[in-house]
Amino acid sequence: TGGLMKGKRGLIMGIANNRSIAWGIAKALRDAGAELAFTYQGDALKKRVEPLAAELGGIVVGHCDVTDEATIDAVFAEVEKQWGKIDFLIHAIAFSDKDELTGRYVDTTPENFSRTMLISCYSLTTIARRAEKLMTDGGAILTLTYFGAERVMPNYNVMGVAKAALEASVRYLAVDLGPNNVRVNAISAGPIKTLAASGIGDFRYILKWNEYNSPLRRNTTIDEVGDAAMFLVSDLARGITGEVTHVDSGYHVVGMKNVDAPDI
Ligand code: NAD
Repeated sequence: TGGLMKGKRGLIMGIANNRSIAWGIAKALRDAGAELAFTYQGDALKKRVEPLAAELGGIVVGHCDVTDEATIDAVFAEVEKQWGKIDFLIHAIAFSDKDELTGRYVDTTPENFSRTMLISCYSLTTIARRAEKLMTDGGAILTLTYFGAERVMPNYNVMGVAKAALEASVRYLAVDLGPNNVRVNAISAGPIKTLAASGIGDFRYILKWNEYNSPLRRNTTIDEVGDAAMFLVSDLARGITGEVTHVDSGYHVVGMKNVDAPDI
């Protein structure tokens, strides 16, 4: 990608392991010349994130659990100390109790509704507020969403509601941050087998369904999301903000099952 991101520095939030979408994004950004900083959530993931960060010559700026604002402040203070400013931020964070990623949405509890919204939606806003302050030469923020925000997908339930709110947040944040030349966008990724996705009921069925029925007749990879993410945070996308870009083998345009699809 010709050093498109050379001289740019950014923070990657949301790597759990080498199957994480954020890892695909980090690799693409590094390939394009960016310098990367990483957060991790808790000691168990620290052991996974440290070697991955080292593989890309990046730095690790500490533990961040978005339900604890003090840990968000701490990682931003560390980034500011190390770099002074940043050019981009990747937000690849979501969580819901897996007991509610199955069955009926109508049974969502108030506790899990609030927690899902806080971690999967509000975290983007609270992080964007801090990122804007460090994006002194302008910048780009990117989050991850899913088609379950737009249409009802089985078992996605409260996460679909949270992703709809996340996509609306992208638009509001784009307006708030735009005057400071900070862009805010989302990628709506097709289903990918990750740790977070394994909590969704019947996920294997969803993967097969997308493979058989999407225009490209294959599933999305973290490298495909990574390349699109690199574009969206690069200067090539300098005119794009408030946008949700689908990287899903085209599945979102399909209105009916492929009649030639095998049984699942
Ligand atoms: P993943 O499990 O690899 O990553 C999820 C990340 O969220 C983990 O790194 C985890 O530490 C982090 N996280 C969860 N709760 C947190 C908290 N309280 N504080 C800080 N971090 C927390 O899974 P993934 O699929 O790569 O997920 C990344 C993003 O992509 C999520 O927003 C997810 O909804 C979205 N997405 C995933 C798919 C898919 O099919 N896998 C499709 C579309 C969108």
